[in-house]
Amino acid sequence: IASISHISKSFGSKKVLSNITINICEGQILGLIGPSGSGKTTTIKCLLGMERADTGLATIFGQKMPNRQILERIGYMGQTDALYENLTALENLTFFGNLMGISGAELTSTIDKNMALVNLTDSLHQIVANFSGGMKRRLSLAIALLANPDLIILDEPTVGIDPSLRLDIWTQLRTLAIAQKAIIVTTHVMDEAEKCDLVGLIINGEIFALGTPSELKEKFHATSIEEVFLKAE
Ligand code: ATP
Repeated sequence: IASISHISKSFGSKKVLSNITINICEGQILGLIGPSGSGKTTTIKCLLGMERADTGLATIFGQKMPNRQILERIGYMGQTDALYENLTALENLTFFGNLMGISGAELTSTIDKNMALVNLTDSLHQIVANFSGGMKRRLSLAIALLANPDLIILDEPTVGIDPSLRLDIWTQLRTLAIAQKAIIVTTHVMDEAEKCDLVGLIINGEIFALGTPSELKEKFHATSIEEVFLKAE
């Protein structure tokens, strides 16, 4: 579904990505982990065409991004919430839904489903400015999933979300993967990395390790992904 092939990227004289190669298939959750500033977000942005790679090629459904038709099949949630703070959750969902070309009964039922999925049904009519950080993240997730995307790209979706809701969200992500969606997620939470099908550990802009959680643990003689991470650093 998505392919990143030998991507390198510098900002000025600073090299931030070196020869990154990752593939993701339908039904898979890929977790990108690594220290702060290692290049996870830049990797995602190069894939989405939000940053221009210096060398290499990234494609989604076989197409180089940006591509309008392909964008319609992607749900993206950036690291910062792009919400209209003075509007209610419902007004935000309606605005973004309309932008995506969804309206009427279809939009209403999708909003109900997604707000239940992120546990925000009771906050539908609240002004977003009064939301906690975790509630904003959850609303952003509900928006990212509005158009029933085939590829879901989430940059630190669970920041500020308490452990029990975080677990709920991961259960939902797994359900989406079982429904043959492909999911790319960055996280600093190592328990979340354990739940991925594939983990890419990025250190200093390079793929230090890529494999299933058990492959990584075996390779680094570790009992957890956290231990792999600490050994890598
Ligand atoms: P975090 O976990 O903190 O989100 P990250 O792994 O996602 O970090 P990136 O955001 O990809 O890391 O950043 C990688 C490096 O590129 C960092 O050193 C960052 O300062 C630098 N960088 C990112 N965007 C730009 C930019 N537009 N201009 C210059 N430097 C940038």
